[in-house]
Amino acid sequence: MYWLHRWPVILIGLVMTPLLPLLGLAAAGLAFHRLLDDLHSLLRSPWRRWRWRLSAKGRQHARLHRRDGYTCRVCGVIGQPLELHSIAPARQVDRDEPHNLISVCVPCHRQLHEQPVSPAISPA
Ligand SMILES: [Zn+2]
Ligand SMILES: [Zn+2]
Repeated sequence: MYWLHRWPVILIGLVMTPLLPLLGLAAAGLAFHRLLDDLHSLLRSPWRRWRWRLSAKGRQHARLHRRDGYTCRVCGVIGQPLELHSIAPARQVDRDEPHNLISVCVPCHRQLHEQPVSPAISPA
């Protein structure tokens, strides 16, 4: 009766056998979830950029960057990512007033906010 020593193995085997498809399903579910996650992160940024460009604010930003010739109004660099900076603090004037907004490159924008007294920039 040597095989009796193996009864825990047999018992576990008997219990686990119907669970195996479930385990497989769980593993497949996890793999699918990871795939979805990867796909999502892959699509998220272009989708956001696309939505931003189509939004009213995105279109206004694009219009103002075009007005400024895609150049930074502080240092004059071309072809760098541009942001909009309000010359007068946004609290004092209409935030979306185009004459108050200038295109600046990212380093210049950071500098502008570090020193509140802005250099001589003429409104458009
Ligand atoms: Zn600049
Ligand atoms: Zn700013």
